[in-house]
Amino acid sequence: MPILERLEELYPEMVELRRHFHQHPELSFYEHKTSESIAKRLAALGIEVRTHIGGNGVVGLIKGGKPGKTVAIRADFDALPLQDEKDVPYKSTVPGVMHACGHDAHTSVLLGIAKALAEHKHELKGNVLLIHQHAEEVAPGGAKPMIEAGCLEGVDAIFGTHIWSSVPVGKIGYRSGAIMAAADKFDLKILGKGGHGSAPHETVDPIAIGTSVVQQLQQIVSRKIDPLKSAVLTVATFQAGTAFNIIPDTAAISGTVRTFEREVQDAIIYHMEKIIKGICEENGASYEFSYEKGYPAVINHQAETNLLVKNAAAVIGSENVIETAPVMGGEDFAYYLERIPGTFFFTGAGNSELGAVYPHHHPKFDIDERSMLIAAKVLVASVLDYLDSSI
Ligand code: MN
Repeated sequence: MPILERLEELYPEMVELRRHFHQHPELSFYEHKTSESIAKRLAALGIEVRTHIGGNGVVGLIKGGKPGKTVAIRADFDALPLQDEKDVPYKSTVPGVMHACGHDAHTSVLLGIAKALAEHKHELKGNVLLIHQHAEEVAPGGAKPMIEAGCLEGVDAIFGTHIWSSVPVGKIGYRSGAIMAAADKFDLKILGKGGHGSAPHETVDPIAIGTSVVQQLQQIVSRKIDPLKSAVLTVATFQAGTAFNIIPDTAAISGTVRTFEREVQDAIIYHMEKIIKGICEENGASYEFSYEKGYPAVINHQAETNLLVKNAAAVIGSENVIETAPVMGGEDFAYYLERIPGTFFFTGAGNSELGAVYPHHHPKFDIDERSMLIAAKVLVASVLDYLDSSI
């Protein structure tokens, strides 16, 4: 396919762009310069651009020469509050801010795709919508407001990838159904009555109550959830007390819940509330409990995933297209897939020889940049096939 060869020619440009964005990272919801830079680059290619979609989001529409469906490709562009600890010429120039999740690469891939597709637009049977999304890292995220602003109107399907450092470069991880989890957060404050450590009967001890709550919370996944379903309930902080002989007034507990199905999530919330209320009331304590739902689970659609697998195999060989286990991390790509069919996959970017061995959100996170060319080719092959296909 000539267009895939064109992507190969554009690869050095994608690398240059990625290094540019890597040096100039911006935090979620504050990506003004990145957003502006993307819009300018798309406009220079003659692409119809809309800016400030649901915040800093940018959308570009490539209208094909022939009538057909509209397919979207999404790339996010925000960075993280981390100090870049890599020793490379393209390291972040912004203190305390870093592209430690590869969103710089996603953006450069989509800009490379934009150029190749814009050059071939007369041959396109249908349209390709380029969704450059802000604020993936911080809930409520950028996807939801972009969708509310209408970015999916008239779109038939969506494809997206995450560059993934724990998968070796050259491989792709796909999965039909749930690929990433709903990632929620909870905070619990137990309000007891403090007093002298020698007179517990005159107090309402929030530590004793809190530890009972933590113990019982551990029983939810093991005793209340179908063993064939997956879920995580982690209590990650427990803070209380100031001295060895004082019973404190309060104890503060927080943690996270990860699930793949709405019913499992609802059941966990129901049992958490029941346990907390029961134990606190029985012991004469009051409490403040807040449960914040994060992004929903990323649920890939079967037909689009099959199409991706077929095209990825043509690009990198079927032996390199691997069915991945679901990941317990979250992604707001979930919101697009709640509205329209599509699939989200992992593009391997790990390479120990290059030092691309650190996990995402690590201060030394880096990628094998060749993953960008693979991501670009697989995405383009898939969307062109989608436009040609009858699904
Ligand atoms: Mn990410």
